[in-house]
Amino acid sequence: MNEIFAKEEQVAAIAEKLLQSRVFSSAKDEQNYRDLFEEYKTLLKQMIKVVKLSDLIQLELKTVSEKLERVSQIDSLTEIYNKRYFNEAYLREWSSAVRANCPLALLMIDIDYFKKYNDTYGHLQGDKCLKTVAAEIQHSVNRPRDILARFGGEEFIVLLPETGINGAAYMAQKVSDNIEKLAIEHAGSVLDKKVTVSIGVAAAHPKDGDNMDMLLKQVDHALYAAKREGRNCAREYDLSQDTGY
Ligand code: GH3
Ligand code: MG
Ligand code: MG
Repeated sequence: MNEIFAKEEQVAAIAEKLLQSRVFSSAKDEQNYRDLFEEYKTLLKQMIKVVKLSDLIQLELKTVSEKLERVSQIDSLTEIYNKRYFNEAYLREWSSAVRANCPLALLMIDIDYFKKYNDTYGHLQGDKCLKTVAAEIQHSVNRPRDILARFGGEEFIVLLPETGINGAAYMAQKVSDNIEKLAIEHAGSVLDKKVTVSIGVAAAHPKDGDNMDMLLKQVDHALYAAKREGRNCAREYDLSQDTGY
């Protein structure tokens, strides 16, 4: 603050000296000068206050805008990233994989018989279950660049940069095992009466010009294979099973 008002403080010091050196030709002149100087000091104090306030407001604005940005990236129920954030991260990681000539993988995770879970325990308990499952997936996925997001109602997506199909299949198994270990009661499920997930797994080694939607379609396809083949399992994308839908 002193730096901003250095010039004004210099002027004040000069004025102070003038008043002390008694160079004024009359007492009236000196009084006028003194009054003006007092006014100057008052205005300067006010100016310093205004600048301090504006600094505080700017800091507050920065904090609020950072909070806003974070809120726009997070799913309010599960407190993990939302689909909007996933889309941004996916684009960023896809481009990075092309540049670095690295693979990347996706897991699409869907809770089994979740409609029956809501029907049996109610929607509020359903929400609680979603939160628990999201937290467990987050807990299972631990590389700093890995991203978990809520993709839809009871569907989650995991983005695994620098990961090929084998690494992704390993992660899928880990997620599936960890959720089963939670042993959340699900009387409506035919699968061991507890909450389980089905997981689609797909990986790519993208090159410039490749279509990034293709991998999303593949992981969706793999998830449907996991559902078809009995649920509570993970399936890798299989080109020979792809009917194009
Ligand atoms: P499947 O094993 O084939 O995945 O069966 P499913 O019952 O899980 O799948 P379906 O798509 O028929 O039902 C999904 C259910 O997820 C229906 C919907 O009410 C529920 N759901 C979606 N979003 C939320 C949510 O935010 N909270 C709760 N409690 N339920 C949700
Ligand atoms: Mg489901
Ligand atoms: Mg679903």
